[in-house]
Parts: sequence; C-alpha cells; structure tokens
Amino acid sequence: MFAQEIRELQKKELLRVILSRASAAGPMITLRGKKFINFASNDYLGLANHPDVLNAARAALEIYGFGSGASRLLAGGAVLHERLERSVAGFKEVPAARMFNSGYAANTGVIPALSSEQDVIFSDEHNHASIIDGCRLSNAQTIIYRHCDVSHLEQLMKQRCRGRRIVVTDTVFSMDGDIAPVPELYRLCRRRNALLYLDDAHGTGVLGKGRGALSHFGVRAEPWIVQMGTFSKACGSFGAFVAGSEDVIDWISNTARSLLFSTALPAAEAAASTAALGIIRKNPQLVEKLWQIRGRVVGGLEALGYDTMHSVTPIIPVRVSTVHDALSLSRFLFNGGVYAPAIRPPTVREPRIRITVTASHTYGHVEKLLVLLKKWDKRR
Ligand code: PMP
Repeated sequence: MFAQEIRELQKKELLRVILSRASAAGPMITLRGKKFINFASNDYLGLANHPDVLNAARAALEIYGFGSGASRLLAGGAVLHERLERSVAGFKEVPAARMFNSGYAANTGVIPALSSEQDVIFSDEHNHASIIDGCRLSNAQTIIYRHCDVSHLEQLMKQRCRGRRIVVTDTVFSMDGDIAPVPELYRLCRRRNALLYLDDAHGTGVLGKGRGALSHFGVRAEPWIVQMGTFSKACGSFGAFVAGSEDVIDWISNTARSLLFSTALPAAEAAASTAALGIIRKNPQLVEKLWQIRGRVVGGLEALGYDTMHSVTPIIPVRVSTVHDALSLSRFLFNGGVYAPAIRPPTVREPRIRITVTASHTYGHVEKLLVLLKKWDKRR
C-alpha cells in the first residue's frame, strides 16, 4: 500500500532500517553476527549494565513482579515510584518530581498541561521532536525562535499575550551537542515573568557533575522553572521525570494526559533508576571519565580536520556535505567494525554522522574510530 512512498524514500537515500542487537547495549554490541564498537548509545555513564542497577531491578522484580497493571492514578504505582520521585527531587534540589513513562511522554504530556489557549510558547528551532509534538498538542500559540538566539527570543516576547509566556528549550541539543544559553534564558524569563521549561535529557548525568544544566551554570532552581529529564540516557534505564515546585507538580499530576491515561512503568524500572541516581551522586569520577573520553575524540577529530559543528558535549556530530556522504561514511565505519549512524533530514537539516561517547568506551575504542576516520579522510 505504501510501496510507492517507500521507493521515493529509497531514491532520496532517506529510507531507514532498524538494526537488532544480539547483545546488551554496551560499548561493544553484536549486529548481524559481528561485533561493533558502539558510538550510537546515550548510555553516557555505562549504567545500563552496572551491577548495582541490575541488582536493584532484580530485587524489585522478585517483590513487585513485572507489569504494573494500570496507570498510577488507578493504583498501578508502587512505593518504589514514590521513592524514585523523592530521589529526583533531592538530586535536582527542588520540592517535588513526577515520573513519566518516557521523555517523549513527558514532553507531550507536560507541555500541553502547562499551557492554555491564552498562552504563548516560545520554542528553540532545534528543540527535540517530542517538544515539537508537545507544542502541537497544546492549545497555546507556538512561536519558534532562532537557535539559542536570546535577542531574537526577547524581541518575539514583546508581543502581546493574555496569558502565560512559556520558554521551552533542550539544555543539550540532541543532534548538535551544543548547550542552550541557560543563564541568559533565566534572566530573560525572570524579567518577563515567563515560565522556563528545560528538557535536560542529555544534561542529566552529564553536565554539572551529573546534576544537570542548572548546576552546570550555577543557576538556582526557581518555582517558575520546570525541569524535565530522562532516565533513559545517563541513568542507563528507561522513563523520565519532571521536577519543580509542589504546585506545578500537583497540577501536572492532575492534567498531563500521558501520565493519567498510561500504565505505570514497572517498579523494577523505578528501582533501577533510583540505583543509577545513587551511583551518579557517589561516583563523580564516572562523569569525569566521560569528559576525558570526549576530549580525546574531539581532539583527534579536530587534528584530522573534521568539523564537529558546535558540539561542546559528548554528543559529537561530524559534518559531511551530502546525505550520500553521510551514508557512505557510516557504511565505511560499519565495515571497519564501528557503529556511528548517519543522521539525515528530516531529523536534521544538515546531514552528519553522530558520534556519542560514553564513560565505558576505552581509549582503544577511540583509537580505532580515529584510525578509520584518518583512512576515510585520505579517500576524500
Ligand atoms: N528529549 C530529548 C532532548 C531527547 O533527546 C529525547 C530522546 N532522544 C527525548 C526527549 C525523549 O526521551 P525518551 O527516549 O526517554 O522518550
């Protein structure tokens, strides 16, 4: 039925295929019977396979079983969900937090819950798809501002608005690896009485000794700041959270449809995420290792003359000219035993290879990547 559409995608080199791993999602993965060094995972601290995380999940499984049976509002939650929320609130130094089933569910549930038809949402043009979809589901007007351009945002915010103004941004941009100007956004929102919604999915566990973007910039968590983050990346687990003041979290708990009408995550997941937060708190050297590996990769890429765009985080895009080049380079790396996916439109405007580094990569893994990229460079 969609054969023609699929052929069109194929012709434009935009057809995606899903590869299936026959191994855990660690720094080495098995695909199609072969081992690869994996530079495609957001498991920044290698916690997806950490023994304490696995043991916490196992112990919870024994007590709570697997499925949670219903949405938490229908008594599908366990005390472990609540315990995780208290840990998140402590970790983010805010009064309250609520779990969501995924980052996607958090953004598509919370953004509409925070905004009504009198309100205006201001959204960075590079925001994640789940934010874009959250804005689409909201009744508010959405205005897009130029990427990280606070002057442009300020100009747009001068327009009349009967209700709330809400500024929404990724803290670390997931395809570019750059960081939003959080202190400037903070000052602007304070001056203009706006709510600031930060998607800290790639900042949590990575920036500010693991505590995220606010901590990285030394910015206080105010009642008018709502922080969203995921357990699916640096926590090596699954699910997400929203953290903020008591009344914001109470409101979200009563109105976010992706929370109200969706079955709760397994208690074992909550146990795993709580264990992961504990590991991040107690092991600052894990975050340091992540940044050391990142430094080695970026140093090597720059020495070879590659353009890493504006990356300042463990998300490292490598610029290529065309979609065809992105696919060829990704295939070349794949044939050499390195998995780094090509990222193409419509995910991004400019095609690239996206390299994500983690604390569980070794310098040997990095060397192998750089040797292959050196060979590729000679062919250009
Ligand atoms: N926000 C950002 C910035 C992301 O990168 C992602 C995931 N790639 C999400 C939200 C969605 O999170 P999840 O994968 O937990 O649904």
